[in-house]
Amino acid sequence: MRLMRFNAKAEYAPGKTLVIADALSRSPIDDKDSTTETVVTCYVNAVCHSWPVSQHKLDKIRSATQDDGQLQSVLRLIKNGWPERISSVTNSAKEYFAVKDSLSTCEDLITLGCRIVIPQSRRQEIVERLHDGHQGLSKCRERARETVWWPKISADIKRSVEICTFCQENKRTQRKEPLQPTPLPERPWQKVATDICEYKGKHYLVTSDYYSPTSTGVSPAELLMGRKIRTTLPSLKRNLVPKWPDRALIRHRDAEAKRQQAFYFNKRHGVRDLPQLRPGDQVLLKLDEDKTWKGPASVIRESGTQRSYLVTSPKGGEVRRNRRHMQVVPPATPAKTETMKETTEPLGTESQGSGQRLSENDDPTSTTPEGLTVTRSGRVSKPVMRMDV
Ligand SMILES: [Zn+2]
Repeated sequence: MRLMRFNAKAEYAPGKTLVIADALSRSPIDDKDSTTETVVTCYVNAVCHSWPVSQHKLDKIRSATQDDGQLQSVLRLIKNGWPERISSVTNSAKEYFAVKDSLSTCEDLITLGCRIVIPQSRRQEIVERLHDGHQGLSKCRERARETVWWPKISADIKRSVEICTFCQENKRTQRKEPLQPTPLPERPWQKVATDICEYKGKHYLVTSDYYSPTSTGVSPAELLMGRKIRTTLPSLKRNLVPKWPDRALIRHRDAEAKRQQAFYFNKRHGVRDLPQLRPGDQVLLKLDEDKTWKGPASVIRESGTQRSYLVTSPKGGEVRRNRRHMQVVPPATPAKTETMKETTEPLGTESQGSGQRLSENDDPTSTTPEGLTVTRSGRVSKPVMRMDV
């Protein structure tokens, strides 16, 4: 703690380069250095007085700390010393064992480095303060890193940002999903697309055959009729004799062109797969031209085509929406898997995939009464204790 004021740089010097004997290692000081404690106390006090918190608020946190049974037992442990093993720590203080070396006390408050440890009763209010101005998750965590701490603070901040109505409504449009190329049909007119097109005030019904892509190097007429069509230009008769193109080659060229198209599309748009929705899921809706997300709406069922759902409309009735235009509203109470994910996963990896992996791994393992996981080989897997910053 005495060195926290300095930016120390450690350099290794081999013994042979040390010409003068290292006095400190040869003559360690036996008696307790009273100045160490003084310096540490001074440092802690200096930190405490530099907090950007009013005295009134500090008093509130202080009195809440005194009423918090868990923090009081942690306080006793800080003063009297922590046991060697976590199993010897009382249940209420176990959460603090991983960070015990960074815990300290200052004017009846508990501190973790430069941060105040907030008692349970004040955490909700602090989480709301951290999210003032509707900053994003990273910014909220950054603010917390400079001021406050409690076990699982990171998960609490994440949750608070996720359920904030204002942030949900003003969230950006979701990224595009990976391109799904349409496979080439087996024969002409097997799959036909039609759409309405407006040109110079007139409406047209445009029909297109999926079997006539231009990427194959063969004209639609050659694919359909096996020969080139006559034009106003003169042409030799033999050019108009039917001759079927190599279908295997066409299929290969088409697949290759679509693969490349998908690759560049996905790269350009930074695409991301969105998780599937289930009937009853609460969602907010936003089309590309809308400014804010509106809702809530409820998923009725999948509409039959990929990434498309029937949902209740906020205005009544039901509408069909693409998955990209739907954002899931987190449930009011956090799911159990969420807590598990937060404690087993290092910060910064928030991909939905890892949450799914956990649930997929549920099958071959079982859980002991103490909440520890037993792997397939019978080994008891203890959750990693990490400092939750
Ligand atoms: Zn917000």
